[in-house]
Amino acid sequence: MTDCIFCEIVKGEIPKDFVYKDANIVAFDDIHPVAKVHVLFIPKVHVDAFENLQEDDVLMSVRRGIQKIVEQNELVGKGYKILVNGGGGQVINHLHFHLIGPTGLHTPVK
Ligand code: AMP
Ligand code: ZN
Repeated sequence: MTDCIFCEIVKGEIPKDFVYKDANIVAFDDIHPVAKVHVLFIPKVHVDAFENLQEDDVLMSVRRGIQKIVEQNELVGKGYKILVNGGGGQVINHLHFHLIGPTGLHTPVK
């Protein structure tokens, strides 16, 4: 896919430190974090919308990657969020999963 910043990151055309990677996905820190831990997990293949994801392995890779980052950052039981962006409302048109640590995107309930 041309003109996709996340495809460029996958191909190494934009240098990025990956905090996790395997055969199906790569993960890196969000450039504008909303919490201390804010990691993006993206499939290596370009997929625009969640419903167009054909590769079952991607979801298992994301689960494993999230588990690793959650454990590394001692977030177990602390209420992290997983936000899936792919379906039109997102800024970058390449399916991605935000892992957002506690307090990020938090609206206090009074
Ligand atoms: P959205 O598509 O609404 O999930 O927004 C795109 C997300 O990707 C935002 O949280 C951005 O901060 C993040 N982002 C955009 N470009 C980069 C980049 N080069 N490296 C890391 N994160 C990025
Ligand atoms: Zn892409």
